[in-house]
Amino acid sequence: MLQNETKIKSLREVRREFSTQRKCEIRLKRLRWSDGVKCPRCGAKHPLYMRKYRRWQCKSCRYQFSVTAGTIFHRSKIDLPKWFVAVWLLCHSPKGVSAKQIERELGVHYETAWYMAKRIRRAMKHDVFEDKLCGIIEVDDAVVRASGDGLPKGHVKFEGKNVLGVAERGGFLRMMILDGLKAHDIKRVIAPNLDEVQEIYSDAASRLFFLAEFGRHETVAHVYKEYVIDEAHVNTIENAWSLFKRGLIGMYHHVSTKYLQDYLDEFAFRYSHRHEKARLMDLVLANA
Ligand SMILES: [Zn+2]
Repeated sequence: MLQNETKIKSLREVRREFSTQRKCEIRLKRLRWSDGVKCPRCGAKHPLYMRKYRRWQCKSCRYQFSVTAGTIFHRSKIDLPKWFVAVWLLCHSPKGVSAKQIERELGVHYETAWYMAKRIRRAMKHDVFEDKLCGIIEVDDAVVRASGDGLPKGHVKFEGKNVLGVAERGGFLRMMILDGLKAHDIKRVIAPNLDEVQEIYSDAASRLFFLAEFGRHETVAHVYKEYVIDEAHVNTIENAWSLFKRGLIGMYHHVSTKYLQDYLDEFAFRYSHRHEKARLMDLVLANA
């Protein structure tokens, strides 16, 4: 679906390849509607193109739409070349990119930069375009410190949030906030993400014993300082946690609990597609 596209390798190339609104629209159209333009409202094919307005009109429901209709770019005052640069930055900064940095690169206000990043993170959520995890799975939980909501300005209070990481070895990573640390809290979050598990590795905590329901379950007892026993380890996730936490401290300083899941999704997206960096930007645009 995403073949035959120019592979963009640097920020300079983004600025050159997508220097005008028109060029961005052409790319977006090809990624959104690889098998022909469809009405975003009713799904009907072959709408009427109105060249003068660069819009289509649906023949069945009469809806008029542009290539950005229904995307994160819809009704934005920011032009697409700026959006594309911001998408590239979020895709290619291993530890994330701050709104401050986007503000500097694009010459937009801080609030605008923050809002753009927030919207782009929405297109990095996995559920739309990735399959379930299978094969050899690692499961591990961690506590992430996020700032609490609803406090007056200047009172940053940190809360520890339990977060679950699930990784397919050599493949995708998911990170999700847990409501609690009981077996049923974890199971509710993990079950929809797994399919055809061969082996599943985790810490030896009893709350994770239920994982045997999904596949052959082996554990390493972190409390006894066991970390790697042959293939039984959760190093993939441990590496991801440490990268995520460094990014959180270095880039985002205070992430509020309200947006924590968005940051987890952003990070997991980059991590999951780390071996196909040239496709990252297209994946986000296609999912926008
Ligand atoms: Zn329609």
